[in-house]
Amino acid sequence: MCFCWRECWRRAATRRGPFSAACWRCKPPVRPPPELILLDIAMPEMNGYEVCEQLKADETLKEIPVIFISALSETMDKVKAFHVGGVDYVTKPFHFEEVYARVQTHLNMRLLEKLRDDLTQMVIHDLRNPLTAIFGVLEMLELKEGKTLSDDTQKFVRSACQSVKDMIAMISSILDVSKMNAGAMKLQREPCDINALSGSVVDAAKPFPGNRTVRLEANGVLPTITIDGGLIRRVIQNLLGNALKYTPERGGVRMAVTSSASEVRVAVTDTGSGIAPEDQHRIFEKFGQVVDRQKRVGTGLGLTFCKLVVEAHGGHIGVESEIDKGSTFWFTLPRVDSKNPL
Ligand code: ADP
Repeated sequence: MCFCWRECWRRAATRRGPFSAACWRCKPPVRPPPELILLDIAMPEMNGYEVCEQLKADETLKEIPVIFISALSETMDKVKAFHVGGVDYVTKPFHFEEVYARVQTHLNMRLLEKLRDDLTQMVIHDLRNPLTAIFGVLEMLELKEGKTLSDDTQKFVRSACQSVKDMIAMISSILDVSKMNAGAMKLQREPCDINALSGSVVDAAKPFPGNRTVRLEANGVLPTITIDGGLIRRVIQNLLGNALKYTPERGGVRMAVTSSASEVRVAVTDTGSGIAPEDQHRIFEKFGQVVDRQKRVGTGLGLTFCKLVVEAHGGHIGVESEIDKGSTFWFTLPRVDSKNPL
């Protein structure tokens, strides 16, 4: 019998309470996170610095401003508080009015930041329509008038087309990442053959630029898994796109799809420039890019998108890389097969 807070079928069948979060079928009630945290430093079991570090490591809590309130008044105590992510520091004994004024200031700042982000988001979103229209016109020009244009003009039109396409892709990445971050992109899970999906991404990328080659290795017949095929396709596209981008001309890329009892794994190995160990974590963060030795441009959002999608599926993503040898970007998805979906 279920005593959860939701009307799940067990409770509907029994029509009994009291409510509790301990239901295997329903998730516990989601409480909105606090808007600001006042944090002491000297506390039993875990001190305030450690608490703050843990808050900042949690994707859902890291944006909440933390104000430290402590009797410690040494400069180094304060510096450490800012170092672990605090936004302000008040020393005890404190005056209520002072704390109140600081709380108000930080709440107002947060509100303004949110307004700024919403506005930026709106502008970025609204840029997509005119850019799509420009892209359409350029494509039509190339298609209908292409033969009547001089070679140089054709080249300019093609390059303009590509630039507009890149801008639309950038805008889409920015919007997708914020949607995923806000939890507004729901997974459309359906049974999916990951082998076929990987194969179709490789086929769609043909012909590979600069005589690069791609070898797809699939380890036997893989189970059909229940995933959002559209999103996972874009993850594979991103990893393959990067592998091709960073592999020198005539170089080879390998995509391996394997499975174990608990998960399915896709790994894309390139023979490119590689990534230094100190950069390997950063590239999965928003706008995280390595100083690009080959001067290639991008948004730094592709891998952030991949990480959000894979983690939303309950999977993991990572990279193994060696400078000047190449990189393997891999991700795993839990093996929830179509006979036993989530
Ligand atoms: P973008 O490629 O648009 O910059 P990504 O999030 O896809 O954004 O990648 C972030 C950064 O990670 C890239 O700028 C690049 O420095 C590095 N990177 C990604 N894939 C590879 C790769 N296969 N080989 C070397 N560096 C890579």
